[in-house]
Amino acid sequence: MTQQRITVIRGDGIGPDIVDAAIQILEKAGCDFAYDYADAGLVALEKHGELLPQQTLDLIASNKVTLKGPLTTPVGEGFTSINVSLRKKFQLYANVRPVLSFKGTKARYENIDIITVRENTEGMYSGLGQVVSADGSEAEAMSKITREGAERIVTFAYELAVREGRKKVTAVHKANILKSTSGLFLKVAREVAQRYPQIESTEMIVDNCCMQLVMNPHQFDVIVTTNLFGDILSDLCAGLVGGLGMAPGANIGKDCAIFEAVHGSAPDIAGKNLANPTSVILASIQMLEYLGMADKAERIRAAIKEVIESGDRTTRDLGGSHGTTDFTQAVLERL
Ligand code: NAD
Repeated sequence: MTQQRITVIRGDGIGPDIVDAAIQILEKAGCDFAYDYADAGLVALEKHGELLPQQTLDLIASNKVTLKGPLTTPVGEGFTSINVSLRKKFQLYANVRPVLSFKGTKARYENIDIITVRENTEGMYSGLGQVVSADGSEAEAMSKITREGAERIVTFAYELAVREGRKKVTAVHKANILKSTSGLFLKVAREVAQRYPQIESTEMIVDNCCMQLVMNPHQFDVIVTTNLFGDILSDLCAGLVGGLGMAPGANIGKDCAIFEAVHGSAPDIAGKNLANPTSVILASIQMLEYLGMADKAERIRAAIKEVIESGDRTTRDLGGSHGTTDFTQAVLERL
């Protein structure tokens, strides 16, 4: 069998620390990957004069599987989000963001196990928008939903539910107000739901969904929704299990997949050895599952679980007092 090559983008801010931690853990777990390092974000801007160099795009395309740290998109005109560009360029239409409770975190609830499936290429993130008045006092943006895009993401969510033995899919929308866009999404979601009678299908308006997630999160299993709502709801879900340091995300398309943390480059703690690497380690677990290496994925998950439950060298966001490297060492020792 040919060796799987993985493109690695270490990213900005806390990215290099947490990505290096994940690679050490993959190696210790006996994953025989070859890693091709590529630049993107601020590092690439400094080295190559652009945020997303062609050689990085070529590596993502040729290896098909990428592990990526968070990227800082410079604020200001002329810079489109690198993450949005990557998702569009490689048609990574499904953003799968699972949250799972680990005992020992400071989370408000126990036994949370929710997967948010977010449409990743349409909606308010279409990139279609402009300032429309000469004095800059009026701006507009376009949200675009297509039947094809809605059907693809809702079907993806149901297929995931079937594959993972999940019981329920909740379609989240705002069709009462956004009648054209969210209305189309909901219409298609209802049609797709008909094809999966074995799965309980529910629907919920996004504002109510926020409240329900905070008050009674155990009613949720798989959530499927449009781009902007999915972005916001998945951060809310991360908050239910102890914060952004606990939240991974997979961007999946027909040909390529990019695995990353949900959070950003965390400039407030960058370079301080304070970041919790769990997010990107859990992303690498999603990558192993995608590659059909569920046994190794489970070994790493069990090691993290043990470290967090026992509070052995955990990071500050988990209530501990240790840094990224100590936490990583504690996981490595259990593998
Ligand atoms: P952020 O997600 O970087 O940070 C939000 C808060 O969470 C901060 O207080 C941070 O310290 C904390 N945090 C995040 N990850 C953590 C971890 N692993 N361990 C402990 N604490 C953690 O959000 P932000 O500050 O709004 O954004 C910073 C930059 O990241 C921006 O340039 C933004 O564009 C970019 N960003 C990138 C991605 C991505 O690459 N996928 C996602 C979101 C934001």
